[in-house]
Amino acid sequence: MPVLYRVHLVDNPRELVNIRWNDDGQITQIEPYHEKPENVPSIWASDIKGEGIWDGEEGLVLPGLVDAHTHLDKAKTYQASMTSDGTVQAAIREFRQVPPQTPDGVYERVMSILKQMVSYGTTLVRTHIDSYYPDLVRLSGIFSAMMAAKEAMKDKIEVQFVLMCPGEIDATWSKHLCEMRGNLSALGGAPWLSPDPVKNIQWILDQATRLGLGVDLHIDETLDPEVKTLEWLTDEVLRRSFSGSVVASHVLAIGTQDQAIQRRIARAVGEAEIHIVSLPQTNCYLQGRESPYLTWRGITPMRVWKDMGVNVALASDNMQDLFHPWGNGDLLQVASLALYAAQLQPRDEIDVLRAISYIPRLWLKGDENPLVPSRLADLLVLPVSSAHQVFSDMPAARAVFKQGRLISRRRVIVD
Ligand SMILES: [Zn+2]
Repeated sequence: MPVLYRVHLVDNPRELVNIRWNDDGQITQIEPYHEKPENVPSIWASDIKGEGIWDGEEGLVLPGLVDAHTHLDKAKTYQASMTSDGTVQAAIREFRQVPPQTPDGVYERVMSILKQMVSYGTTLVRTHIDSYYPDLVRLSGIFSAMMAAKEAMKDKIEVQFVLMCPGEIDATWSKHLCEMRGNLSALGGAPWLSPDPVKNIQWILDQATRLGLGVDLHIDETLDPEVKTLEWLTDEVLRRSFSGSVVASHVLAIGTQDQAIQRRIARAVGEAEIHIVSLPQTNCYLQGRESPYLTWRGITPMRVWKDMGVNVALASDNMQDLFHPWGNGDLLQVASLALYAAQLQPRDEIDVLRAISYIPRLWLKGDENPLVPSRLADLLVLPVSSAHQVFSDMPAARAVFKQGRLISRRRVIVD
């Protein structure tokens, strides 16, 4: 049976362990390391041949990373001729003027970014599909292309879809949602952009209840203190005792409120069991341009959430499009930026790694602890021995297992 010798688990970096799994890829045992047989190949060796035993070389193991919020339909559409002024409003406006995407083009780009994400250690991704496409026929062509990419990559990465509902709904949408329901993990939207945010939140929650889905919303992607969709969403979830999963992403405006208000809202968010996803790359790029001096940070106030016991996940959001011209799907880069932008400290390093692995895996898969016997061996191996070294050295090398199979390695040659 396959075994990975001599690795540290991120939660217990002092101990070296072996991880064993069966031929179905299910972890069977995690045992203390004493010694390994001779001639076990290094996980970083050049001529590895899939023997099923590897020496982890005292590296660090995390569960396969989870990118809980992306926009794969837009990924890699950036071109140098695009002239957005770098605000979210301009990006929304200008992306609608980009020539229509063909389903073949969408398929190629989605495949390309998924392969890249896998190579950095991500084995589960949730993507939002925009509703701005001017007609449902075009949306359905794009969705079909994304479904084909999901199927083609299913042995390497699991893809979940969220359909963004428009801010103003017409009658065709309820029918359309029914048709797509089987392929959706949640209903999305951006109620903070709707002419009537409360009505929009209520409609999306009504539809999610009717279809038995969770909701996953863009919330307050602005540093305008007057925007308070998070409070309205929280009130509505509590009022109707909504039983589905609720995810709120971005969540920036709360950072403009004073501490007492932030803590009151954070307490209510915790009570409503709303999951918060922070997206520091896109939001540090888009937000705060109105203040060229003492520029505000485009990140949800993670220290407040932490003090109040509310978990926050971290994710990529846009990658190489008008909303975010850079971004390569490497969640370690996202986590590293969060340490700086949210002004966290070395004691927060393990929590930040959990924010791209354990926490979103629990929310998206219901998987409480992915690194115990009976769970599938979706693993990321890094050539460092602690969370501190992850962020000090930012290792480029990665070895990725999906259901016990070694599916990708990035190796570094230093001459
Ligand atoms: Zn987004």
